[in-house]
Amino acid sequence: MRFANFVVNPMILPGKTIGVLGGGQLGRMLAQAATRLGYRVHIYEPQAHSPAGAVAHREVNAAYDDLAALMAFARGCDVVTYEFENVPAAPLQAIAALTRLLPDWRVLETAQNRSREKRWLRDQGLPHAQFAEVAAGGDVAAAIRQVGVPCVVKTADFGYDGKGQLKVMGEAGLAAAREKFRGQPAVIEQFIDFACEVSAVVARSAAGEVSVFPVSENIHADHILEFSIVPARVPADVKARAEALARLIAGKIGLVGVMGVEFFVTRSGDVLVNELAPRTHNSGHYTMDACVTSQFEQQVRAICGLPLGDPALLSPVVMVNILGDAWAKGEPKWEALLADPAVRLHLYGKSEARPGRKMGHFTVRAADVETALAKARELKEKL
Ligand code: AMP
Repeated sequence: MRFANFVVNPMILPGKTIGVLGGGQLGRMLAQAATRLGYRVHIYEPQAHSPAGAVAHREVNAAYDDLAALMAFARGCDVVTYEFENVPAAPLQAIAALTRLLPDWRVLETAQNRSREKRWLRDQGLPHAQFAEVAAGGDVAAAIRQVGVPCVVKTADFGYDGKGQLKVMGEAGLAAAREKFRGQPAVIEQFIDFACEVSAVVARSAAGEVSVFPVSENIHADHILEFSIVPARVPADVKARAEALARLIAGKIGLVGVMGVEFFVTRSGDVLVNELAPRTHNSGHYTMDACVTSQFEQQVRAICGLPLGDPALLSPVVMVNILGDAWAKGEPKWEALLADPAVRLHLYGKSEARPGRKMGHFTVRAADVETALAKARELKEKL
């Protein structure tokens, strides 16, 4: 019943307007893919002059809890999606009553809170790290003892890129955890001594068509993605399990749109689901330069009811994030990147380069991933 209108009017064709909640780089690259296909794009973002607003037809600056502004925005769009996970679910529900909102607000509500997300994984019988929940004002130390050490304490809300996380190695860490998470709802996760991290971006249409991009191997530095390597250097059965889990999750959660699914690969070869993000994912940026269809075009296709595009990989590739740290000694030296035909540079047009802030990325294609990775590391150093 929820999607009954899709049966009557399944396609939102080029020329129509896509609304995006969030004006960051994911919204920018979505707007670029959508405008290439002839769509109009409206961005809703609290801060003026956003990366996405700069490449869209319209940018509305208002708060995410300004219901009147959100309603006015939604009325001007044929479909609304989001690129930012911390949009409160209640206004999304109001938007869904006015126009098509995809993915469904309930998908975001589950994924944006670590407690709900972990509970959902457990209820669906999907593999995940053992965890315990602590309500606001609850006993963090008791929950840590329940899971055991080492463990990772995470805020239930508004966590990303390792923000709001604390690793607890032993009894000595209990006081610090109590202090840091005082009064906040939190999730305590068993620490996984993983062999590596991988992720998959999955797309699902309203008709139930599912497509998964090649699994990416991800290397983080200070909890922020540094390199994505594709094909991932893991056994074929690990890749197959990650892909199958992404497919399964997309179907079970009722996804219409795209979703990034992050996994831990344990030393014994188990694949555990770490996190779900019902939007495009940083680890899927490589698709823009190395796949037949990019994750952003796939998002447009999925939310507009178009046939999904081919996710096939055209060549081995490594994606490197460019953080604000690269500006420590002035403007980075782009010449080496720009001089190499196997390298593509993407900058997000952010004016202020703060440490840890994602300012852009580049991809390196080569005949094999080891060559691409060696070149990627070298080029990153030269910046
Ligand atoms: P998250 O924001 O939950 O994706 O965490 C960011 C990063 O912290 C992950 O990509 C891992 O590198 C690390 N991390 C998070 N949770 C765990 C865990 N339970 N065990 C080991 N490492 C973790």
